[in-house]
Amino acid sequence: MSNINCQLSTANCQLSTANCQLIVFDLDGTLYAKPRMVWRMLCNAPRDWRLMLAERKTRKQLRGQYFGAEDTFYQTYFQTMATHCNANPEDLRTWYFNRYMPLMVSVIQRYYKTVEWLAPFVADCKNQNIRLVVLSDYGHTHEKLHALNINENDFDWVVAAPELGGLKPAPEVLKKVLEKMNVTAEQCLVIGDREDTDGALAQSVGADFYLTHNS
Ligand SMILES: [Mg+2]
Repeated sequence: MSNINCQLSTANCQLSTANCQLIVFDLDGTLYAKPRMVWRMLCNAPRDWRLMLAERKTRKQLRGQYFGAEDTFYQTYFQTMATHCNANPEDLRTWYFNRYMPLMVSVIQRYYKTVEWLAPFVADCKNQNIRLVVLSDYGHTHEKLHALNINENDFDWVVAAPELGGLKPAPEVLKKVLEKMNVTAEQCLVIGDREDTDGALAQSVGADFYLTHNS
C-alpha cells in the first residue's frame, strides 16, 4: 500500500492511495483559506450588497441541483436570482460575469494565499501518477488559479460545476468528472472544505472524502 505524505492545514496526515487514481480538489476555501471573504467583497463593492445577497440566496436554493447543461443551469440561475432582487436576469448575468466574478478574483489576488501544503502534495501525487482535477462551484476557475499563482498545468482538468450542468453535491457533476478521467468512484478521492457540498458530493457516488480545515 502506498501513501501520500502531506500536511493539510496544521494536521499531518497520511492518505492511503492504495486504490487512488484521481484526486478532485475543491477550490475556494480548500486551495486557499478565505476568512472574511464576504466582508472584503462588500468593502470593495458596497453598493452591490443587494445583488451579493441575492446571489448567495440563489446559490443556496439551487445547491445540489442538476440541469443537464451549462446554458440551462445559468438560465435558471439568473432567473432565480431575479426573484430575490427584482432585477432583469440578463442584467444579472452581465453583473455576475463582468463584475462579481472579476471582483472575487481581484480580492483573492490581493488578500489570499495558496495553502502551503498544496505544492508538496501535488508533487507527491505526480510521483505516484495520481491525476488531479480542480472542481469548483463557481466560474472563473482559471482566473482564480492564476490569482493564486497556482500553475494550472499541474492539473489534468480545471472545471466549474456549472460547466457540467449543476452545483455540488449533484452526483451527476462528479460522475461527469469520473467519466472524463475514466476512473471509478472507488478510485477517486475528493478533498474539500465543506461536508455539505464536497463531502456530500463524494458520498453521492461512493468516492472517498477528506475534509480540510483551512477557513
Ligand atoms: Mg470550498
